[in-house]
Amino acid sequence: MVEHLTAGGDALVLMPTGGGKSLCYQIPALIRQGTGIVVSPLIALMQDQVDAMRVAGVRAACLNSALPAEEAQQVERDFERGELDLLYVAPERLLTGRFLERLSRARIALFAIDEAHCVSQWGHDFRPEYLGLGVLHERYPGVPRIALTATADAVTRAEIVERLALQDARVFISSFDRPNIRYEVVEKDGAREQLAGFLRAGHRGEAGIVYCQSRRRVEDTAQWLVGLGVKALPYHAGLEADVRRRHQERFQREDGLVMVATVAFGMGIDKPDVRFVAHLDLPQSLEGYYQETGRAGRDGDPAQAWLAYGLSDVVMLAGRIDASSAPDEVKRIERQRLDAMLGYCETTQCRRQVLLAFFGEQAGPCGNCDNCLQPPATVDATIPARKLLSAALRTGQRFGAGHLIDVLRGRATERAQRLGHDTLPTFGVGHEFDDTGWRALVRQLLASGHLRADPDRHGALELTAAARPLLRGEITLQLRQPARRAPSARARGGTRKPLPADADPALFEALRECRRRLASAQGVPPYVIFHDATLIEIARERPATLEQLRQVGGVGEARLARYGEAFLAVIAGHAPG
Ligand code: ZN
Repeated sequence: MVEHLTAGGDALVLMPTGGGKSLCYQIPALIRQGTGIVVSPLIALMQDQVDAMRVAGVRAACLNSALPAEEAQQVERDFERGELDLLYVAPERLLTGRFLERLSRARIALFAIDEAHCVSQWGHDFRPEYLGLGVLHERYPGVPRIALTATADAVTRAEIVERLALQDARVFISSFDRPNIRYEVVEKDGAREQLAGFLRAGHRGEAGIVYCQSRRRVEDTAQWLVGLGVKALPYHAGLEADVRRRHQERFQREDGLVMVATVAFGMGIDKPDVRFVAHLDLPQSLEGYYQETGRAGRDGDPAQAWLAYGLSDVVMLAGRIDASSAPDEVKRIERQRLDAMLGYCETTQCRRQVLLAFFGEQAGPCGNCDNCLQPPATVDATIPARKLLSAALRTGQRFGAGHLIDVLRGRATERAQRLGHDTLPTFGVGHEFDDTGWRALVRQLLASGHLRADPDRHGALELTAAARPLLRGEITLQLRQPARRAPSARARGGTRKPLPADADPALFEALRECRRRLASAQGVPPYVIFHDATLIEIARERPATLEQLRQVGGVGEARLARYGEAFLAVIAGHAPG
């Protein structure tokens, strides 16, 4: 990618969050003559990226509406004098006549369009300004362009190519595997308590994100966590802009904060030490889910993606798709996306295999997901499935899971009596499972495409064409044992990496304290100065001179000059032993 772009080619880059996307344009921008222009939709995060680049010795700056006028003028002057390697610009700023004029006079190394999926009108990150970026190709045909996204489904990809005029661009797709993230799905059963258990079991005091479907649930959950003594903050589109900004900033800069949020939170979050991403509700698509969970463990250390889901999630989401005013074609695609999500939740296969297959990648079992660590038992569910399908058929395919389960389990409710369902042959034959078991079976039949929940009729369960051979006894069905699984100690274990035996813990803490001091003095997040991995190596190697410190991974010239003496002083103050 770097070579292709440096040589002047256009590129479309699909890479998971945490895969190192920004290097793809940062390096070519430094090699090529002129300034690299980076278009990014999130002004709040531009400053952090610029700070990180400056600490690494790169001449970087940003232009956005949050910048005071005099600072903006200074940036523009530096840019015109050719004194910037990288300039981050908000799209609305870039597309002003004045700025485009300025670009024509300057020397441009390349255009990088980050979060390129924002151009997709069907996605939830759609930014209308992105539609105007096609103009870059017309006005500056000689400047290479690179569009980057962590969103990889075929529809979105085609939209990016078309709207940004990237028909001739070379497409780079990197592996979407994030092996350090452990995936786990649990059946919803008091989701908040389950979340508390998950946090207690291995994520005390760690930074993480909890996603919920609604604003109301975000508020309630955040408050509830605070009541449990967890440092948690809410984030959703209904909060005032400055509250959102403040919460995002605290998440970025403080250690061990839990953000409870809707999907409005996260795009462009550049925090490497997020240790877990939990979903309290079923996400709308596997693609969105993978992007959200990809915000965990960007530093490469162990991290966890945890999801709780239940039948009501499925009915609610299917209903939301159907109630929307979108064209039928859009609804059909959204419905397919939901089906893929369901398939992931109900699979007995390695979860990573399912995720990667969704992105077109083949992989072996990962050994690091719940299904690999504790393979689920499967059972021959042909008979109970036939009972359930038969109950749906005999009641006219007009009822949701609740009533069908009443009928199967022989509960003569008022409704069952009124409709005469207590006299059906399927009444009371469902002795195999309790309610939970039957609901699990319904979910699995929805996921496997034997049943369909009709959102027009409050989740009424209908048989699909695939259900016929099953009903007629022509095929059999193996399903995940519909029983509640106790979480295994191994699947639940914490993710914090222990300090290596030869690293002095007291020295490590002192180094962290030094980093914290420097970071707060400069108003940057601690990891911008040094990552944990670098501090650990320093604690092991105990460099005594600047020359020795230079050998440590992640130090580099610019950081050595700025922080070297401060860290050497800390090491000198901590004699071994
Ligand atoms: Zn696995």
